[in-house]
Amino acid sequence: MKPLEVIVLGGGFAGLSCAKALTDPRFHVTLVDRWNHHLFQPLLYQVASAGLSTTEIAQPLRAILSEHKNVTTLMDQVTRIDLEAKQVHMKEHVLPYDYLVIALGAKTGFFGHNEWEPYTIGLKSLDDAMRIRREVLLAFEKAESANTPAETEKLLTMVVVGGGPTGVEMAGSLVELARVVLKHDFRRIDPTQAHVHLIEAGPKLLPMFPGDLPDYTATRLTSMGVQVHLNCPVKEVGPGFVVAGDQRIQANIIIWAAGVEASEVTRTLAGIPLDRGGRIQVKPDLSLPGYPEVFAAGDLVSLTDKNGVRVPGVSPAAIQMGQHIAKNIQEYPLGQIRPDYAYWDKGSMATIGRKAAVASFAGMQVKGFLAWLMWLFVHLIFLVGMKNRASVFIHWTWSYFTWKRGARIILGKSED
Ligand SMILES: Cc1cc2nc3c(=O)[nH]c(=O)nc-3n(C[C@H](O)[C@H](O)[C@H](O)COP(=O)(O)OP(=O)(O)OC[C@H]3O[C@@H](n4cnc5c(N)ncnc54)[C@H](O)[C@@H]3O)c2cc1C
Repeated sequence: MKPLEVIVLGGGFAGLSCAKALTDPRFHVTLVDRWNHHLFQPLLYQVASAGLSTTEIAQPLRAILSEHKNVTTLMDQVTRIDLEAKQVHMKEHVLPYDYLVIALGAKTGFFGHNEWEPYTIGLKSLDDAMRIRREVLLAFEKAESANTPAETEKLLTMVVVGGGPTGVEMAGSLVELARVVLKHDFRRIDPTQAHVHLIEAGPKLLPMFPGDLPDYTATRLTSMGVQVHLNCPVKEVGPGFVVAGDQRIQANIIIWAAGVEASEVTRTLAGIPLDRGGRIQVKPDLSLPGYPEVFAAGDLVSLTDKNGVRVPGVSPAAIQMGQHIAKNIQEYPLGQIRPDYAYWDKGSMATIGRKAAVASFAGMQVKGFLAWLMWLFVHLIFLVGMKNRASVFIHWTWSYFTWKRGARIILGKSED
């Protein structure tokens, strides 16, 4: 009998875990992604701040799936989904399906202020990370030959918007780059005079962390040299400036880590309820209302699970959802009642800088050096590919003992 066709859209955490778990030969799986690689987004900030190279946090999807003989990988950009015709439209292909899994993730969101996008750099892709790295390293090179102190100061001012884990990790890593890694490498400028601002609209950093972890994070970042601005909603962003709260900050680089919204493809799902961020309001079994053969997983899903827990946009949730959908497809033919998804909260972690991180799990709160060791360990374990794990481990060990970063090469053309 001809296998049923399952199309999985997106080779991120959700799509990849789903495709890997669809091992039953009664199903043929086509995994579609616009890139040829799976990206480990939690370490993107280290590529952006010249700590790791791109190949250490990305793996070709074909290589990951080479042993999964019922899975075909297709590199193409999804443009729209026709639920009635059961077809996926891409730039180069139109594919019919028996089952569909939508796992296209999220993109940088500007809370309705898309006019700010041209003046900022997001952190969602390898391109974004490489652009940040290039702009940051170029800023120091240009500052070395600047003519006035004011010019130097403007070049060496960086703003990170958003006090969640991405913003905290990015700001901490940038300030360490300036104050420690580059400290002795310039002759005319003092890299330690660079300014890194972290702007957060709410009253604390890492608001999802319990107890005193947010305060510890703010205190630690401040002691490292980051200028932390709390209760400062961004009101305007323009060429080389940010207005936040009642302050106007002149900045050479503005990194936007303040929000995400679902892939724009969700807007093509006729009749399907979406939340304000474009996330699909799925049924508890992760299928789309009225379409039991279509599922959604990961960052583009809006769901309160069967235990009343709001499912967060994090990689463990995406992986769990992908696996849950694979189980539902393989074990429950259409028409049967399928089990609902329940989020298993494995805890949260964020690194602040060298020897400093925060972690919260199983009702416990850990901070400082121990949390940092835990963060290193967990990220190494979850990184896809043995070679990448070994390479990142060696890289981190070398950086720890030498205070150096190995990926400080400027590539590509500057924006100006
Ligand atoms: C900088 C950063 C740091 C993070 N740190 C952490 C962390 O420390 N811990 C944690 O748990 N989570 C972290 N997250 C969140 C975590 O990465 C996401 O929750 C997770 O990636 C969601 O998985 P997903 O499969 O839904 O989406 P993604 O992993 O984003 O995958 C979506 C895939 O779809 C593809 N795609 C998108 N649009 C199209 C299209 N139109 N056509 C074809 N393909 C398309 C993309 O190329 C991508 O491969 C971080 C995220 C970022 C951006």
